[in-house]
Amino acid sequence: MLYTIDMLLDKIKSSEKTYDVEKISKAYQLADKAHEGVLRSSGDPYISHPVAVAYILLEKFWMDTDTICAALLHDVVEDTDITLEEIQKRFGEDVARLVDGVTKIGLVPLNTREEQQAENIRKILIAMSKDIRVIIIKLADRLHNMRTLEARPPEKQRKTSLETMNFYAPIAHRLGISDIKEEMEDIALRYLDPYGFNEIQRQLSLNEVQRDNFIESIKERIRERISDIQPPPIIEGRVKSTYSIYKKVYVKGKNFSEIYDIYAVRVILQTVVECYNVLGIIHDMFRPIPYRFKDYIAMPKPNRYQSLHTTVIGREGVPFEVQIRTQEMHNTAQYGVAAHWKYKAGIQGSVAGEKRFDWIRHILEQQQEADDVEQISEAIKVDLAPDDVYIFTPKGDVISLPAGSNVIDFAYAIHTEVGHKMTGAKVGGRMVSFDYKLSTGDIVEIITGSNAGPNRNWLEIAKTNEAKAKIRSWFKRECREENIENGKVQLEREMKRNGIIADDEMLKNAAQRHRFDTVDDLYAAIGYGGVQISKVITRLKEDQTRQNKLNAAAAVDVQKLVQDASARERKNGVIIDGIDNYPIKYAQCCNPLPGDEIMGFITRGYGISVHKADCRNVKEGLKSENRERWRPAIWASNSTSSFRATIDIIAEDRTALIADITATIANNRIPIYEINAHYLKNGNGNVVVTVEVSGIEQLKNLILRLQKIQGVISAERAGKQ
Ligand code: MN
Repeated sequence: MLYTIDMLLDKIKSSEKTYDVEKISKAYQLADKAHEGVLRSSGDPYISHPVAVAYILLEKFWMDTDTICAALLHDVVEDTDITLEEIQKRFGEDVARLVDGVTKIGLVPLNTREEQQAENIRKILIAMSKDIRVIIIKLADRLHNMRTLEARPPEKQRKTSLETMNFYAPIAHRLGISDIKEEMEDIALRYLDPYGFNEIQRQLSLNEVQRDNFIESIKERIRERISDIQPPPIIEGRVKSTYSIYKKVYVKGKNFSEIYDIYAVRVILQTVVECYNVLGIIHDMFRPIPYRFKDYIAMPKPNRYQSLHTTVIGREGVPFEVQIRTQEMHNTAQYGVAAHWKYKAGIQGSVAGEKRFDWIRHILEQQQEADDVEQISEAIKVDLAPDDVYIFTPKGDVISLPAGSNVIDFAYAIHTEVGHKMTGAKVGGRMVSFDYKLSTGDIVEIITGSNAGPNRNWLEIAKTNEAKAKIRSWFKRECREENIENGKVQLEREMKRNGIIADDEMLKNAAQRHRFDTVDDLYAAIGYGGVQISKVITRLKEDQTRQNKLNAAAAVDVQKLVQDASARERKNGVIIDGIDNYPIKYAQCCNPLPGDEIMGFITRGYGISVHKADCRNVKEGLKSENRERWRPAIWASNSTSSFRATIDIIAEDRTALIADITATIANNRIPIYEINAHYLKNGNGNVVVTVEVSGIEQLKNLILRLQKIQGVISAERAGKQ
């Protein structure tokens, strides 16, 4: 659907609230001009997107004028020339701040490394804590982008869906905006698991008519039974969201037919008393399924959701869920924090002093306490996706904790001092261990002692970040000297285990890398559990590896110098069995040169006779009874000895040939020992010259030059055996 400004203005006209239509029109005009000529991937004009976002905010929440203006302008600062100052001048401080917040959230990459991600999420939470409307606009922005995701390339579809599933939907859930949360999840699922999504859709459509009739008949029967309630209750019926069914089928591994609450019927009343009365009537009409009743009125969810839930089976044998709540609870359930704008005369977006935003402040406070980004990241994950248990104090107060919490978490949730002074705990009147996992309905009594203090191993046991942060800060505060000693011992033990030898410099670097001023601070943090020792070790290991490489490089240099020096002093250039000072004689049969592969023959009393490895005498020798005396040999580098080699040249007969050959050899400063020339039968000349060279390289060079002499047909080393 293409959203237009006319639709937006019509929507505003239909509202009971008052809007500054002129301001909104001006915001539209500015955005329209700024995005002029730009198209979305779908081919629609870009302006249709901000208009859609503004429309969603009206349609769902009746957000205020400034929010609607900011929605219209939310992409101009990032995508066009218009500056924030300009927006501030024309639309005021609030609109500018909202646009800035939304722009910044949009720039935060969420699928980055864990550390980076935690930092980014922190930025978003800070933006939210300043003005919650920022994230509400962002959620509407994301919802419209999800609705139009079809037009994007597949890679982008997946990435955006993943981000939505992991971040925006949980935020919507935490803010209690189930409406947006469910739509986001269903669309994201379509791209993340098309197979699973289609399968559920197919199953649902199989008996659509039957299903509609079923829900209608249930609604009708309930309506009849409670017809005496005035004003008449609202009764709704629906199929639950695709993603909630998906989770049950694919994550919990249930059969499609086993899922109890594909169908949900909702009864919306005026008072809480009516809610409990209607619950009784429902249980009288249909058979309740045991353990499926939940009283979220007495124990609201952390996102303030309130309702009675029960699952029952009708005559048809089909189970369905019934949700019973008041109108006000219903508003909160659908729109969460945004219900404020929808049903009350607009409030400011600040979260200060608002109890419902406690969790945002909590996360931010914990982050200031935490020294380690992994803790922050974990805190956010746990706090954004709470699956809570409800625990009672002996006085009957209810404390909600994340599932899996134990008595330590409970003690710290009551009060920090209760946690610190805990010496034991009773559940249902019986003593339990500290790691006792609490379940909903447990009545827990914490026993305290005046001289008690937390134990270090509580850090391992505690499940909630709140408890961990409090325990850590106790150790941080109470025992610095002890922490330093403790941390030092721990780190030294781990370094030893990992073969790390760290000098002061390395430790200082490590401390700085973890943002501590001194090594003692690092030790202390390890001591009280503020820094994970494994992380310190990982980085020290990297340092060590780097250092080792540098050392190795330096060692190679030194070794080379030593080698060079000894090479100069060496009398000869052949090493046999690692020994280089044998008396050497070069075999006349093959004239080995440095660079040739060689073998040495250990003579009796003559030292070593060196042959080319492919010399006929070597081959014979290795078969003889003396084969033990033949040893592999290598040339020492930088040998200063010289060698004789014979070169065999064939050339066309011409005058001055021999003069050219001798001149070439002389020009290379190579001494000639012997030179012979004669005619071959075909009329070509053959020149055989014996020279003294320093090695095979020099010989090769000489041969190349000889080959270039005019008339030379071939020139090669003689005596190849
Ligand atoms: Mn946008």
